[in-house]
Amino acid sequence: MIKYDPKSLVAEEFINDEEIRKTLEYADANKDNLELVDQIIEKAKERKGLNHREASVLLACEDKEKTKEIYDLAEQIKKDFYGNRIVMFAPLYLSNYCVNGCLYCPYHQKNKNIPRKKLTQEEVKKEVIALQDMGHKRLAIEAGEDPVNNPIEYILDCIKTIYSIKHKNGAIRRVNVNIAATTVENYRKLKEAGIGTYILFQETYHKESYEYLHPTGPKHNYAYHTEAMDRAMEGGIDDVGIGVLFGLDKYRYEFAGLLMHAEHLEAVHGVGPHTISVPRVKHADDIDPTDFDNSLSDEMFCKIAACIRIAVPYTGMIISTRETPKVREEIIRLGVSQISGGSRTSVGGYAEEERPHDTEQFDVSDNRTLDEVVNWLMRAGYIPSFCTACYREGRTGDRFMSLCKSGQIQNCCHPNALMTLKEFLMDYASPDTKKIGEELIEKEIDNIGKEKVKEIVRERLVKIENGERDFRF
Ligand code: SAM
Repeated sequence: MIKYDPKSLVAEEFINDEEIRKTLEYADANKDNLELVDQIIEKAKERKGLNHREASVLLACEDKEKTKEIYDLAEQIKKDFYGNRIVMFAPLYLSNYCVNGCLYCPYHQKNKNIPRKKLTQEEVKKEVIALQDMGHKRLAIEAGEDPVNNPIEYILDCIKTIYSIKHKNGAIRRVNVNIAATTVENYRKLKEAGIGTYILFQETYHKESYEYLHPTGPKHNYAYHTEAMDRAMEGGIDDVGIGVLFGLDKYRYEFAGLLMHAEHLEAVHGVGPHTISVPRVKHADDIDPTDFDNSLSDEMFCKIAACIRIAVPYTGMIISTRETPKVREEIIRLGVSQISGGSRTSVGGYAEEERPHDTEQFDVSDNRTLDEVVNWLMRAGYIPSFCTACYREGRTGDRFMSLCKSGQIQNCCHPNALMTLKEFLMDYASPDTKKIGEELIEKEIDNIGKEKVKEIVRERLVKIENGERDFRF
């Protein structure tokens, strides 16, 4: 029997199958125990989070009234920690060469239908210019795993190219990286290249399913993949983003595993994950999502987001364009703090006029342009933020978390959101978006607590009107 130990560095000890099973039994036994459910909700109201057992009880509870309380609390916690800001980003696909055999991913090595493509540095430049012309400041780079075609040197070259491009008023100010699990040495190189968050989805925490779904290639190794974030932290990366590909295995198992992973990172490194992503399996070339019989309803998907929000209030939550505008709207209300917009999931897709389908990683369900997404968010009362200040000011890892926990981070985030939105309005917005945005900024300036900060923001907004860029707190 493998013993559960959140402080262990061994995958099967910190993501412990027996502990997850016991958690699910405990949740089943207590899902109608409304007294316990009430106690857990009360604890969550303290805004210090919940452990995987407590959160699993809430997820299992089917009582309508309690579910509403959970949703209301998630919404309130989200407002308290993230205000009405939504951080914007876009994925940038560098290469779809891959030596793995992941059953759910069209990049799997045996798929001969898709043309394989890897961007040259010249092509990276074209993509980045197209992304800057949309207004993006923050990217998540994506690549298949292929030591020959996509070695770490290639990824590092791309990062350098991305940061070097200054087209008109554009700039990519934060590059997050979503590449396969790698060595401490390579994580150190990524850190030195100035990356923001290192993102790696676990796909599934269920070891047997994991091995079945990743039959061939280096990704087959469950322990190496599951322990990747510890190596990333050892390599000096203190902002890491975890996630599950929902639909592959039972969502309740994944939910408990996800929270155990967060607890493990906190226990060992003193800082939990910076973000949690909640992708769902989508149709793609050679991939039929119905082949995986663990798909979950939109309602349950939203409930998972609400439970994550109250279980780990300081962890940002990300939703991509895999989801429809309708689901995105609901899930943003319940807890998501970062979304992608105007995304293309194909290698070289941004520089092409038409949405190219032949190399798309998966079907996108929100096809709107970035301007349309920004417009939609503002009409729904949110402030789209292009802020990248924290990591550039060294507010990462435990420094970021302690500012977040004390609530002080709001003093930076809110004004930074308004100033970066102003840049977007000046440089990239359509007339209608600009009009709504200017009104929103005017209204939101009043929500800046400190008079002195308010004054500085007003001065800087005028400077942005006059062509200056990149102010931050
Ligand atoms: N190759 C890297 C790795 O192995 O982690 C990461 C890059 S991959 C482009 C990014 C993520 O896309 C994967 O971690 C997986 O969760 C997700 N993905 C793969 N196939 C998908 C599908 N059919 N639908 C939705 N998401 C998918």
